[in-house]
Amino acid sequence: MRVDFLANASHELRTPLAAVVGSIETLTGHAKNDPAGQERFLGIMQVQADRMRRLIDDLLSLSKIEMNEHVPPQGEADLEAIVRETLDTLSPISSRKNVRVSLKRAEGNSEVSGNRDELVQVAQNLIDNAIKYAPEGGQVEVEVGGTVPRGQLGSVARRSAEAAHVSLAAPRTDPDCTYGYIRVSDNGPGMPRASLPRLSERFYRVEEAKNSDRVGTGLGLAIVKHIANRHRGGLFVESQLGQGSSFTVCVPNPK
Ligand code: ADP
Repeated sequence: MRVDFLANASHELRTPLAAVVGSIETLTGHAKNDPAGQERFLGIMQVQADRMRRLIDDLLSLSKIEMNEHVPPQGEADLEAIVRETLDTLSPISSRKNVRVSLKRAEGNSEVSGNRDELVQVAQNLIDNAIKYAPEGGQVEVEVGGTVPRGQLGSVARRSAEAAHVSLAAPRTDPDCTYGYIRVSDNGPGMPRASLPRLSERFYRVEEAKNSDRVGTGLGLAIVKHIANRHRGGLFVESQLGQGSSFTVCVPNPK
């Protein structure tokens, strides 16, 4: 697994690096006296350098979380406050794409046991994906709630009888624990049923996403899954092709 991971990570970094090297060659070669060409190749370098930075940031987050995966997180955090803050942060991205993002506050305690910064990363990854994969002018709904007994998590995560459902991380706490949750739904393209169990593998991307302009790092959901595991929480996905996708993450309420 480790060898595979290194091979994948190197491959992912090599593509943008090749684009940067190619641009430098052009800038110092035949675009030397061509201002329009210079602008174009500097633009390419900026996009590719950004991509490398995102990859490295995600790789570092992942390795940090993995190192601590078996150490229970300290502290408490309110999922509602985290979601509100994340929606503010991401509002420039959703307005640029004209995606309407709504927040629904369901009942229950949204205060959970956990590390605030890591839970912010969870909310950011899920909401950012929903905006990224929603169509122009599309819709994203974020629901926050809590005090859900373990036995009722299924009804929070599963809303549609026709959609496919998969649990990417199973909550591991004792049976009398209750959970706060964030559910993020979009009206994007949805994903084929067979892809769902693989979503949290590092660098896995659904075939359609690979060929679109919505290039991500393929690490976001791996990060979300590891954070959910560390918090003894769960991660569920529900999706139907052509209808959209929903991701639900749940984290234990404090005792
Ligand atoms: P990426 O950075 O590529 O978005 P993620 O790990 O966050 O990486 O997601 C893995 C893959 O899962 C994505 O490449 C995409 O194919 C699919 N995916 C994730 N979220 C959604 C969504 N809301 N709608 C459709 N596909 C999604």
